[in-house]
Amino acid sequence: MDYSALLEEIVDELAGQRGCGRVADYIPPLASVDPNQFGIALMEADGREHVAGDAEVRFSIQSISKVFSLTLAMQHARDDLWQRVGREPSGNRFNSLVQLEHEHGIPRNPFINAGALVVTDVILEVLADAKRTLLDLVRQLSGAADAGFDDAVADAEAASGHTNRAMAWFMKGFGNLRGDPEAVLDAYFHHCAIALSCRELARAGMYLAHRGCTLDGTCMLSPQQTQRINAMMVTCGAYDAVGDFAYRVGLPAKSGVGGGILAVLPGHFSACVWSPGLDSAGNSMLGIRALEALTARTGLSVF
Ligand code: GLN
Repeated sequence: MDYSALLEEIVDELAGQRGCGRVADYIPPLASVDPNQFGIALMEADGREHVAGDAEVRFSIQSISKVFSLTLAMQHARDDLWQRVGREPSGNRFNSLVQLEHEHGIPRNPFINAGALVVTDVILEVLADAKRTLLDLVRQLSGAADAGFDDAVADAEAASGHTNRAMAWFMKGFGNLRGDPEAVLDAYFHHCAIALSCRELARAGMYLAHRGCTLDGTCMLSPQQTQRINAMMVTCGAYDAVGDFAYRVGLPAKSGVGGGILAVLPGHFSACVWSPGLDSAGNSMLGIRALEALTARTGLSVF
């Protein structure tokens, strides 16, 4: 498969649609991102890399960080992780509060905001510096030693994150956050504010396509844990549009409101697309179209 040519073809063919969708505007640093950017990167399981478009431009990974937080939590697994967060798609927006009251402060899954806050609380319980440990994990996985937090994004998230704050304190009320909700929020906002390029994120996701291990042989998770994260990406990785995403793309994936989508095909590749314009569910509009083209042209899918 000549992935380099295929990615170039996809970027060329979709060029006329650059700028489609709506850039996230809940914080100024995201609202001011140029909507016309569009990049794609793919790393094969043998290490070959392919990129096209704006694949080297760093962007805010936002909810894609939830995959790495869950990885850390599973590495330091406490038996009660799955008592504190579920494994079912929510069918609601990623920042919805509505199910929390009925379900006694237990979020539906780790990939919605409430779930990621619980996962962050779990990490904070076991790691001295959860903020930094997650950044170190992302640096190790992506090979981007200089990757960091975009402080303007983290500060803006903290200043405007009233819904996330409400969720954290609400779950504290149910006893499902054990630490200080403000410390949990601070770590969560920073994790969302990590900036990486498509190339770096495709590298970072390789362990998900490679039975839990990086290509240099460092194992992050067991093969079974990795399958389970991939299963959750299929069922919960694209917010409340996850059914449509599975239908159109057919890969385990996690999206973020920065416009990035990390998608993997176990045994084959890890890929990342980025274009900041979002659809009404908060997924990158052009990103989904690009992944749809990728799986349609190659005939590859987990299904
Ligand atoms: N920082 C965003 C939030 O907490 C992340 C959401 C996302 O990417 N879906 O609302």
